Amino acid sequence: MQIGKNSVVTFHYTLRDETGTELESSRGGDPTLYLHGANNMLPTLEEAFNGRSSGESFQITLAPAQAYGERRADAIERVPAKYLKHEGKLRVGQVVRLHLKDGGAMPVTIVKLGKFAVDVDNNHPLAGHTLNYDIEIVEVRAATAEELAHGHAHGVGGHNH
Ligand code: ZN
Repeated sequence: MQIGKNSVVTFHYTLRDETGTELESSRGGDPTLYLHGANNMLPTLEEAFNGRSSGESFQITLAPAQAYGERRADAIERVPAKYLKHEGKLRVGQVVRLHLKDGGAMPVTIVKLGKFAVDVDNNHPLAGHTLNYDIEIVEVRAATAEELAHGHAHGVGGHNH
């Protein structure tokens, strides 16, 4: 089965930055899955999956503009520490989740720690990086009616309710 609209794709990936440093990998754990055509992934990465089949491996290198954008210098913000979700003691350089008013959360990087307020860099942690994805497609199947209604894939490595 070829990947197209409404395919659920299960895959392993290793993500490296421009220096070859490994940033993330699914290998050694459960593969990741996503619903193709539902804007759940970087558009440039999703495009690279289009038309491929299970068992295929490929690599793709994305410039910052094709991935999470360039770093913005004006993205430092002072927020109350209580809006940050973390375990243990905060430290500079740590990536934590900042709770937003709409109920969501976004990853931010700690820049400076104060007693009650924390300066965070709300650039995406991968902004400014050229990203190399080393991908192996494990399985391609049709999405279920429930997955289509939710707009995301279900199962191990996907969305759990
Ligand atoms: Zn769902």
